[in-house]
Amino acid sequence: MSYNQKSYALGSVRSIIRETFEYGKIRASQIGADKVFDFSLGNPSVKPPKEVRQSIIKMLETYDETALHGYTSAQGDVGVRQVIADDIKSRFGVDMDKDFIYMTCGAAASLSICLNAVLNQGEECIVFAPFFTEYRVFVENAGGKLIVSTPEDNTFQIDINNFESLITPNTKAIILNSPNNPSGVVYTEDKIKALCKILNDKQKEFGHPIYLISDEPYRELVYGNVFVPYLMNYYDNTLVCYSFSKSLSLPGERIGYIAVCPKMQDAKSVYLAVCGAGRALGYVCAPSLFQRVVADCIGAKTDIEAYKINRDLIYNSLSDLGYQCVEPNGAFYLFVKSLEDDANAFCKRARDYELLLVPCDGFGTKGYVRISYCVSKSTIENSIPAFKKLIESYK
Ligand code: PLP
Repeated sequence: MSYNQKSYALGSVRSIIRETFEYGKIRASQIGADKVFDFSLGNPSVKPPKEVRQSIIKMLETYDETALHGYTSAQGDVGVRQVIADDIKSRFGVDMDKDFIYMTCGAAASLSICLNAVLNQGEECIVFAPFFTEYRVFVENAGGKLIVSTPEDNTFQIDINNFESLITPNTKAIILNSPNNPSGVVYTEDKIKALCKILNDKQKEFGHPIYLISDEPYRELVYGNVFVPYLMNYYDNTLVCYSFSKSLSLPGERIGYIAVCPKMQDAKSVYLAVCGAGRALGYVCAPSLFQRVVADCIGAKTDIEAYKINRDLIYNSLSDLGYQCVEPNGAFYLFVKSLEDDANAFCKRARDYELLLVPCDGFGTKGYVRISYCVSKSTIENSIPAFKKLIESYK
């Protein structure tokens, strides 16, 4: 065999999200983009805040070009890491140090690095359904085994009993994603406290650490007075995977970081394992220009109000039509119960009305679809008659 079959399998099968998006492009060329309601991708529809553009221009005009585009140290520019450590300290009260920050090419890279840093061959990583489909790829590529915890009915909060029943002496990591893709749910503080208590008890019982990996690209995207607990304040063995893809609308620039909790048992060694995993995966360093830009723009935010308007519009409109939707407090996804058991068949029928939805079987939850409402408001407004026809077709 001339090439790696596992990699071939990953590369040759398009994700359902990508497949839907590609279909949407073809359909738009046939009938016009304004007649296709593409809710497939989680690509921010809001511009980066003005600070980003100003910062890029400032960097280009004032920085030494060789340094600006040159390699930084593998873990990231020291000044950038200091800004991020200070930001974590001031926002969440954690005594963060720049030497526990590792700059990455976004949350996807952060997750891959963290999993490679903590998992040994065959160890288990628990994720909570519905979960970001790439977790399976990242966990298995790091030699781990993915274990799926099922959520509470209707609320899609963590089912604590189910979670506890899945922990074994072979459990090494947990990935938690809140606000959640694809449900839009923010896990409550009570759930987080219960989960962390179980983890602390189990660590004691087994005599080895269990790492909590917090995947937080949507941390800033919450609507109203919703509290998103910062996991380091609840559990010492926490690694935070942060990304600027959504908070600054910079997904193509590939920039984020890993923060290792300074209170972690063996924090320095785990940080070095993070550095080693980044090295083994060939990341070299995060993009140099954008390291400086995000540090310069720390605290700036994208226009969350635009997403909130979309959230209210689609959630209220679909609920009024009779769709069963999970109340989304964050991210930019609406999780909707399929009108038939087979979500794939439902999405296929939705295409008859030019509605492009994503079936959520691959996210570990059957019978639901995801609607990415990071689109223009007019796309949502114009799609409502199509949603009406779709539900009527089932009556
Ligand atoms: N984790 C979740 C839950 C996501 O939804 C995404 C992207 O959509 C990622 C990680 C990867 O984000 P990034 O662009 O920062 O790699």
